[in-house]
Amino acid sequence: MRVTEPHGGLILLSPLSGWSTPLEEIPDPVFAGRMLGDGLALDPTGDTLHAPCDGEIIALPESKHAVTLRTDGGAEILMHIGIDTVGLGGAGFAAHVQSGRRVAAGERLITFDLDLIARRARSLLTPILVMEGCGFAVLRSSDNREIAVGDVLMEIAASAAEAGGQSRRETGPGDAPHEVAADEVRRVRVALEHGIHARPAAQIVNALKAVSGEVSIAVQGRSANARSTVGLMKLGVRKGDEVEVRATGSDARSAIEAVAALLGAAHGEGGSARPAQRGSAARPQATTESQEARAGAALPGVIASRGLAVGQAVRLAVHEIEVTATGAGVAHETSRLDQARADVRARLEAARAAASNTTREIVEAHLELLADPELSESALALIVAGASAEHSWRQAIRGSAEALRALGDPRMAERVDDLLDLERQVLLSLSGNAGAAAQELPADAIVIAEELLPSQFVALDAGRLAGIALAAGGATSHVSILAAAMGIPALVALGPAVRRIAEGTPLLLDAEAGLLHVDPGAERLDATRRLLERGAARRAAQREAAQQDCYTADGVRIEVFANIGSLAEAQAAVRNGAEGCGLLRTEFLFLERETAPSEAEQHAEYQQLAAALGDRPLTIRTLDIGGDKPIPYLPMPAEENPALGLRGVRTSLWRPELLRQQLRAILGVRPYGQCRILLPMITEVAEIRSVRAMVEEARAGMGRHEPIEVGVMIETPASALLAESIAAEADFFSIGTNDLTQYTLAMDRGHPELAARLDALHPAVLRLIARTAEGAQTRGRMVAVCGGLASDPVAAPILIGLGVHELSAVPSAIPRLKALIRRLTMADCTGVARQALGQSSAGAVRALAVQRVESETV
Ligand code: PEP
Ligand code: MG
Repeated sequence: MRVTEPHGGLILLSPLSGWSTPLEEIPDPVFAGRMLGDGLALDPTGDTLHAPCDGEIIALPESKHAVTLRTDGGAEILMHIGIDTVGLGGAGFAAHVQSGRRVAAGERLITFDLDLIARRARSLLTPILVMEGCGFAVLRSSDNREIAVGDVLMEIAASAAEAGGQSRRETGPGDAPHEVAADEVRRVRVALEHGIHARPAAQIVNALKAVSGEVSIAVQGRSANARSTVGLMKLGVRKGDEVEVRATGSDARSAIEAVAALLGAAHGEGGSARPAQRGSAARPQATTESQEARAGAALPGVIASRGLAVGQAVRLAVHEIEVTATGAGVAHETSRLDQARADVRARLEAARAAASNTTREIVEAHLELLADPELSESALALIVAGASAEHSWRQAIRGSAEALRALGDPRMAERVDDLLDLERQVLLSLSGNAGAAAQELPADAIVIAEELLPSQFVALDAGRLAGIALAAGGATSHVSILAAAMGIPALVALGPAVRRIAEGTPLLLDAEAGLLHVDPGAERLDATRRLLERGAARRAAQREAAQQDCYTADGVRIEVFANIGSLAEAQAAVRNGAEGCGLLRTEFLFLERETAPSEAEQHAEYQQLAAALGDRPLTIRTLDIGGDKPIPYLPMPAEENPALGLRGVRTSLWRPELLRQQLRAILGVRPYGQCRILLPMITEVAEIRSVRAMVEEARAGMGRHEPIEVGVMIETPASALLAESIAAEADFFSIGTNDLTQYTLAMDRGHPELAARLDALHPAVLRLIARTAEGAQTRGRMVAVCGGLASDPVAAPILIGLGVHELSAVPSAIPRLKALIRRLTMADCTGVARQALGQSSAGAVRALAVQRVESETV
């Protein structure tokens, strides 16, 4: 904002005592990026917020964590106590005024519990802002010094646009009612966890900068200009409210899509460590072909992989592969196609061997497609009809892709990418270009493309790739999953405007808010860069500290282990500070092969993993195979409901020869004592006794004198409820929250429609965990959690409070988990666990848990 009158501005007095800090220091991109407005932050030492000048209170949410005051001249001042404090739901805040009241400079507005907020909020930093769009700008401010209530904090004045022309104050953009005669109207149910508070309001205003026309949001007879942050906040919209979005002009549809995407998806809400719900985000089409991706525009997209990135636009050069239609004889073309498919298979198999779990699953899906008999039969039919290998393969793939698209199911349509990827890989092999070098990237590249195929993604230089911005694509595509696994922020479904971004344009990809900022200005880019650097420095410090054993703030030892499934993951676990492996899923050795791995092969694998872990414990889970994961060398009877059929230890006891071999392979690992055995899907003590007898028999047969610990997975409600009797037979417990949740809630863990409700923080699951811990305690058994819940920092205080001693998480989650646990006391943990057990839904537990956990945005 430019200011016309450098004198005669309005003085704002400090509303708080504390240390004044630049906005860039705030750990939140919306505030740090000045999306809500300009000003500074106060790191408070006092607990009472005072009026910085005379004015009227125009917004004071029920949560009382923020207040907006309008001066007589029309400036709107937002004071927001702490960051992410809306989630406290008013706890710790007491308001001395109400909305609509006139106040005098220095008057008490809100008193807050500094201590409580310091413990529960992400940060205490309190932004004092002149709201964006109110027509006022900051002339000068007192940064980086100690400040007392009533000291001069900043001077503000009307900015050029407002001083010269008609002030928006006169029309009151934030004042209801504001309803537009609409070209498009849509009703949207608000999914934002805390409704439309300051941050989402700013994101909506920001998203609308990319489109023209008037936009309003109405709820319960009240309406506001959707371009006014204050107006939106004043609506007091809560989660679950149904609002009406109206828009005018040629961009009306795009504007509505953008607003609906922000309101309808629970994204942009910090605090929860849950990943974005795949496939649940709406698909905004906020920009049309005719619109330029101009400097300052913010293009809304769907979040495919969370995070922030600053970099330059790099267009991915994708060359359509030309093919000749006519073949040179059936035998020749058939053999060329067979050879090309065999080459691709060999390459994929090599990639699978070196891959992490996520990549491996995707590579396996590609291998399956490659072997698909329908594809090869249709290609062969075309070759027989005289076509070339290239043309036949392309036609066969495209026919299947069309059929998938025609199903009208977005998830199926996303699998089309995988087919097209295979088309490309086979055609490259046929043309002899399969090994051609991938496009070189400059540093901090934000790759822009219409769509990206998984093989194109993995070929990119990850060290130079800062982010991904796709015009099309879906949040559940394999590229999105790969990007999330690699921690590369990605937005998809950005629409056609993204095609118009010139090569080299500076970009800010905000995959927390779902916006791609095109050339947002050096100041904003620098602020985000600093934020990312601080985040990286914090993570590096956490990784370093993670090498130490983990204790709570009051000295209780909590072991933080890793789940692993390959050598690469064992190495990552050690790098990230894992104190051992709490779950080795041995299925990786048994799947996708014609014969069972020999005892020697298994032993070599386990020994290699044990060596990679150094002297850390290695918990090896016996084969957890079932009807849903068939293995050819273990034919199973057909099962109507495989999740409730022969699974885990049941399969092992049904065909014990495989288990005997596996037990011997484990018992042979040196040094003795490093490995412990974990049994999956236990429901009663008889199963443990049977396996223990086999362990003893194998031990005797091998002449091994040293005992080995045998623990059980608690992943059925039966085993949790019988924990006390099971504790008499098992050496330790490891709770598999993935299956425990599935079986407790009677919801398939792979069901896409139920995914959002399948939350292991459901109080029923927590009660079973509590029961397990009580049962374990009767015999002094150690209780671990190795299901997905152990990797969720939000859950850590609750789990520890319920009596869990060990968390076994994905390696990358360990540094942050340890940093968090070191700040907790057992009193904190037992307190929140007790409260959690009393809640009636997973949502209520999660809201409670989020308040307890300091989270970081980057
Ligand atoms: C679980 O069920 O929580 C678990 C860790 O086992 P898996 O995910 O391998 O079934
Ligand atoms: Mg399980």
